[in-house]
Amino acid sequence: MNKATFSNSASEIQQHLTYYHEQITRYENEYGRKLGSVQLLAVSKGQSIEKINAAILAGQIAFGENYLQEALVKIETLAARHPQLEWHFIGQIQRNKTRKIAEHFAWVHSIANPLIAERLSTQRPAHLPPLNICLEVNISGESSKSGIKPADIEALALHCQQLPHLCLRGLMAIPAAHLELPLQRQVFHEVWALYDSLIKKGVKIDTLSMGMTADFAAAIAEGATIIRVGTGIFGHRE
Ligand SMILES: *Cc1c(COP(=O)(O)O)cnc(C)c1O
Repeated sequence: MNKATFSNSASEIQQHLTYYHEQITRYENEYGRKLGSVQLLAVSKGQSIEKINAAILAGQIAFGENYLQEALVKIETLAARHPQLEWHFIGQIQRNKTRKIAEHFAWVHSIANPLIAERLSTQRPAHLPPLNICLEVNISGESSKSGIKPADIEALALHCQQLPHLCLRGLMAIPAAHLELPLQRQVFHEVWALYDSLIKKGVKIDTLSMGMTADFAAAIAEGATIIRVGTGIFGHRE
């Protein structure tokens, strides 16, 4: 990659980050959300280290990755120079990957079964703070999608709360794609209602991870506290 191309795409990424911060503020205002209540997670799966570096230079700290091997290369390359970075695992979790996830990530958004949660808790190194977790809810009821049924969320939440090296933070969802804002909002509202019902039952949670490039506005309208944006920041994946 020549220098001109690189600096060009680096400044584009920085402009995109500024744009998303402006949009977050705009929708926080528009939908009566508290200012500063929505965080931007930069989803860097399939994106180069150069692009991640450009985002870091623009002040981005939290990055989301789906594939463990790819993520570990990035984390190892960047960690020494940028100890402030916060890595979030957002992909499906295979049993044999839990140890590395427990060792290298600050958050896991995609907990969908009790065994995976138990392994992450057992394997979380003692010198690190508890691993922050969200339970992934399959809100649209699609058999092709990961996540657990809304009806099973409460039991899993109560189970995860007991695990000593995990900190249950909330729910995550990837609804079926809708193009229209009202339909997007309807599904996100169901996720929020589930989240709210757990809080009303005394479960201590504060995080609703929902909304991506195509539907983040609807997610903010319905209470998202973390939006996960990939292509909108970095462009198409490799
Ligand atoms: C890839 C991915 C994203 C980002 O999607 P974009 O459409 O690129 O913003 C967010 N969340 C999860 C779980 C993903 O796998």
